[in-house]
Amino acid sequence: MSRTNEPGGSRNAMDVATIAEEMRAIRRHLHQNPETAFSEFGTSALVASRLKDWGYDVTEGVAGTGVVGTLRIGSGRASIGLRADMDALRITEETGLPHASVKDGVMHACGHDGHTAMLLGAACNLAQTRNFTGTVHLFFQPAEEIGHDSGGERMVKEGLFERFPCDAVFGMHTHPGLPVGHFLTKAGPFMAAADKMVITIDGVGGHAGRPHLTVDAAVVAAGIGMALQTIVARNVNPIEPAVVTVGVLQAGTVYNAVAGTARLELSIRSFSETTRQRLCTRIRDMVHAQAESYGAKAVIDWLPGYPVLVNDATAAALAASVAREVIGADCVDADAAPMMTSEDFAYMLQQRPGCFLRIGNGVDSKAVHNPGYDFDDQCLPVGIAFWTRLVERFLEQGVAPRMADRTE
Ligand SMILES: [Zn+2]
Ligand SMILES: [Zn+2]
Repeated sequence: MSRTNEPGGSRNAMDVATIAEEMRAIRRHLHQNPETAFSEFGTSALVASRLKDWGYDVTEGVAGTGVVGTLRIGSGRASIGLRADMDALRITEETGLPHASVKDGVMHACGHDGHTAMLLGAACNLAQTRNFTGTVHLFFQPAEEIGHDSGGERMVKEGLFERFPCDAVFGMHTHPGLPVGHFLTKAGPFMAAADKMVITIDGVGGHAGRPHLTVDAAVVAAGIGMALQTIVARNVNPIEPAVVTVGVLQAGTVYNAVAGTARLELSIRSFSETTRQRLCTRIRDMVHAQAESYGAKAVIDWLPGYPVLVNDATAAALAASVAREVIGADCVDADAAPMMTSEDFAYMLQQRPGCFLRIGNGVDSKAVHNPGYDFDDQCLPVGIAFWTRLVERFLEQGVAPRMADRTE
């Protein structure tokens, strides 16, 4: 039987339900007032103010608009990090809901309002229940959505884990198409690396009737577009997922002239660093060699996106066990299929072992990044109970559980 209405068991049921009610109001306020990457000023001020009210040590201005709340209880030496993202998207909302965005062209279409509210609710609950020994760091990060030089990446580069040491770190994302409050996760690679490459071909333009005096950039670009198709087929291990998509191919302006320049833009996705580096190297080599074979030059701009998101096996098992305790065993899939979308929480998981989970937003929920999407508030009590129990179980001994990645 589902325990969705009483997450966390009977001991804290009323507390969690009451907190979830308050968080529902906050979630809807955030939804109504969305803020895009590195402009989450109102959101982070609200988060910081609540954390201070509940007795947290609060650090503001982390990677711009990020906030970290720290709570230490007892003499336990272990520490855990929990992360929520706060930014909205440049999408015009079409939900028609009473709490719809009041900002033209900006909306919370990826549920980060809900992520923030769930973690804030857990902060409130943990400050009351105090049923652990050790340190909790709550990371409220800016700018997950921008794909490059993101909030999570900047936090890590600015020394997040040196300033706020963690034995493990956990994150959670809304998941349309899954019943409300159910969980998905997986040990190992769970979400893809996604990179962008921009290729500019320099040839020599001229008259269409005198091609022998030109270097035709359109022909070079077409040749490269075809040659790239062999990389996944011939250079990548066939049991490794990989994608090379030529999304943009532009050359020329008029039919009776040879194009002197051309431009290609590629989307490159993979599930391991080995495959990612292999794709990068082979694409570079092939593009330069192809261009040279036609007498042209290629300039390559490689824009690394988020790395592969890899869950630690022990952390994933603990998270799944906590999820089963909170919502019921039949509502948790701990061996979910990997996804070709990407996440900047991957940077944190490169630094510390941990786990990323997906929480169901309902089978009829609109997809994320759709103008009709809205976070389902029924997730709030489940998420609050999950984060609370995860902290309690991770910090029950005062010493961190040994992670699979760790060596003594
Ligand atoms: Zn998103
Ligand atoms: Zn998102």
